[in-house]
Amino acid sequence: MYDVIILGAGPAGLTAALYAARGKLKSLVITGPMVGGQIALTYQIDNYPGFPEGLTGPELSDRFKAHAEKFGAEFIEAEATSVDLASNPYKAWVGDRVFDTSSLIVATGMTHRGLGVQGEDRLMGRGVFVCATCDALLYEDRKVVVVGGGDSALQEALDLAKFASEVTIVHRREELRACRCLTDRALIEPRIKFLYSTVVEEILGEKRVQGVRLRDLKTGELKVVDTDGVLLAIGWNPNTGLLRGEIEMNDSGYPKTEGVKTSKPGVFVAGDLIDRNYRQVVTSCGSGCAAAIEAIRWLEAQPSH
Ligand SMILES: Cc1cc2nc3c(=O)[nH]c(=O)nc-3n(C[C@H](O)[C@H](O)[C@H](O)COP(=O)(O)OP(=O)(O)OC[C@H]3O[C@@H](n4cnc5c(N)ncnc54)[C@H](O)[C@@H]3O)c2cc1C
Repeated sequence: MYDVIILGAGPAGLTAALYAARGKLKSLVITGPMVGGQIALTYQIDNYPGFPEGLTGPELSDRFKAHAEKFGAEFIEAEATSVDLASNPYKAWVGDRVFDTSSLIVATGMTHRGLGVQGEDRLMGRGVFVCATCDALLYEDRKVVVVGGGDSALQEALDLAKFASEVTIVHRREELRACRCLTDRALIEPRIKFLYSTVVEEILGEKRVQGVRLRDLKTGELKVVDTDGVLLAIGWNPNTGLLRGEIEMNDSGYPKTEGVKTSKPGVFVAGDLIDRNYRQVVTSCGSGCAAAIEAIRWLEAQPSH
């Protein structure tokens, strides 16, 4: 029986584990497929405070985990397959193993939507990327294709245009879907070009991205455009499948929350999962900390605790 089970071992889950364990909660982290979460895939982190020289994503992830372990957090390197939050103690399953817990913190992050075209998976991290705030500096004076036409695509393109020599927004519709304020800014930015009614059919390159094969949806014409990077900005899906029917969620699968609290007492969420705006390591750590503090306070208020 645990005081708290934390689902996910990205920055949010590992910070929650540190705070929970240091707060003397018997804590178990079910890590899911990626210890470290998205930072495990990130070569260099230059914007985490306290490390002016920067460090690799895996190194930061190892430090987060070691810090939580130092205070006694336990880890299972496996995916949680289901949860039962009908009554307390809550239950979390890993295959046929079941773990009981008084409280739960869900920090399972997001999965970016993919195009499903050739070259995308092979060149991920080698020119294919999903976060301008994180990687824009790598594209200084280089060309980038941004795929998408909503708010995040335009915001990412504007962020990239401060560094890249040319940003081409490729959008499958005839018009952008982004808000007027972003569209107006992008339209007058000389480094941003637009290709409407166009889709990416293939991402080209051997070791790194060198170009994209595009299809004009109106004429059917195919053409190859040289580029150094392809930023996928067609949206993210929350990793909340196992919470379906257990807590209140909106139609897009995001938990309905008040801060880090969900509709279920003693069940909290943290990290990118509840952050539509910033999605950074430091903000994920912040909400991981908040979720653990809320779990500690909630447990203290329970008569049985
Ligand atoms: C390529 C890239 C580069 C980035 N670079 C930077 C950067 O330089 N600086 C910066 O501040 N931010 C950067 N970010 C953003 C940052 O990585 C995220 O904001 C942060 O990792 C989110 O943390 P999280 O803990 O909420 O989720 P994630 O990091 O996504 O972690 C989710 C965790 O949930 C686990 N999980 C999923 N399903 C289950 C399940 N069923 N059961 C149990 N566990 C599960 C996963 O294994 C993982 O451990 C980058 C993102 C990407 C994609």
